[in-house]
Amino acid sequence: MIPECPRSGETRSRTRVQHGPAAELRQDRSVSGLLSEIRSTIQAGPFTEHYTIIPGKELGRGKFAVVRKCVEKCTGHEYAAKFMRKRRKGQDCRMEIIHEIAVLELATASSRVVNLHQVYEMASEMVLVLEFAAGGEIFNQCVSDREDEAFREEDVKRLMKQILEGVAFLHQNDIVHLDLKPQNILLTSSSPLGDIKIVDFGLSRMICSHQELREIMGTPEYVAPEILNYEPISTATDMWSIGVLAYVMLTGISPFVGEDKQETFLNISQLNVSYTEEEVLQLDQAALSFIQMLLRKRPQDRATAEQCLKHPWLKSSDCQDTQTVEEIVLVKDKEASSTTSSSTSSPEPPSSATTPEEEEDGPVTEELIVMAAYTLGQCRQSSTSEKEALAAEQKAISKRFKFEEPFSALQEVPGEFIY
Ligand code: ADP
Ligand code: MG
Repeated sequence: MIPECPRSGETRSRTRVQHGPAAELRQDRSVSGLLSEIRSTIQAGPFTEHYTIIPGKELGRGKFAVVRKCVEKCTGHEYAAKFMRKRRKGQDCRMEIIHEIAVLELATASSRVVNLHQVYEMASEMVLVLEFAAGGEIFNQCVSDREDEAFREEDVKRLMKQILEGVAFLHQNDIVHLDLKPQNILLTSSSPLGDIKIVDFGLSRMICSHQELREIMGTPEYVAPEILNYEPISTATDMWSIGVLAYVMLTGISPFVGEDKQETFLNISQLNVSYTEEEVLQLDQAALSFIQMLLRKRPQDRATAEQCLKHPWLKSSDCQDTQTVEEIVLVKDKEASSTTSSSTSSPEPPSSATTPEEEEDGPVTEELIVMAAYTLGQCRQSSTSEKEALAAEQKAISKRFKFEEPFSALQEVPGEFIY
């Protein structure tokens, strides 16, 4: 796999972009938000009777899945086969695989989501036979130092539009992806630069009006503040990740990544994002404004995917091959009485999508809040009693520390912790 790519001469403790493990934060196995019905006929193995696995050609690997290139024997067509273990950490996860299949089925109407061809089930694993995205992850271009390989702004605009079309489609159908990052955005070809395909619905969830989702999931650098705070998840949670994604695609820098997970989480919960890095200063105002209308702490203040598609930065693009918002097909019949467009699934548009700078909170001070580490501890708790126990502990250790660059000694800030 691609190694981590630290940025040389970094003054802040931030690296460019990491290819860290997916779903590192996943903690519980709540079944809420999972779809359980699928249309696909599950083929009984053996898989290799119908497909030839291309030897040595591993396309990717996660904690519980290996993706290999394969060729369907009867047609000669190439596919990506995602082999997924049914038991993970001693638990039966077949239901979660069924959910991933169901989401892929629901999304067949969107060309921006990878197509599911077939499903196989063996004794200990299931295989999702997916459309092969020959261009690989956009991660490769994000971290590339070679000018001919890295994205140009026009490329980012075109690809970002396509990502938003896919995400708008998912959100219209009450699906949140919850793991949007460069490793899960693939390309149909890399040279010439093709179209995007969104993959990996392993963490995705269905948002229901009658049930709040508060789960710990995602990948540290892309995770939204509400996930760290154990607050409700909504379509806006994905929009935060799109903001991070746009920043990364345009600059090659991961805006919140720290030396370790804890520092990354602190950066996120403090909204400690730099808009003064050299690479960011080179961006045009419209691109910056696009990012800033997504990297907002309050989910309801973030732009929706549809609002993003109308943003001047994307409107100014040369390319014409994208869909209009109206063309993004809505496949799911909304129940007339449904209240799924509640505040959790459809956050109010920001008061001004184009001038978010006006709403910034003034100068950002560098404050390391030690408390945040404990907040995280709370996130991991699932039972109320455990949470209460932890809250009591928090009160005992609430302290604020300030630091200045270059990093020296921590200086305690007296006074109440504002939380
Ligand atoms: P995980 O849940 O383990 O992250 P993913 O679905 O993200 O699994 O797949 C892991 C990796 O495999 C992806 O990041 C990508 O590099 C590769 N991959 C997945 N699906 C495809 C595909 N359809 N075509 C090409 N490569 C793929
Ligand atoms: Mg993945």
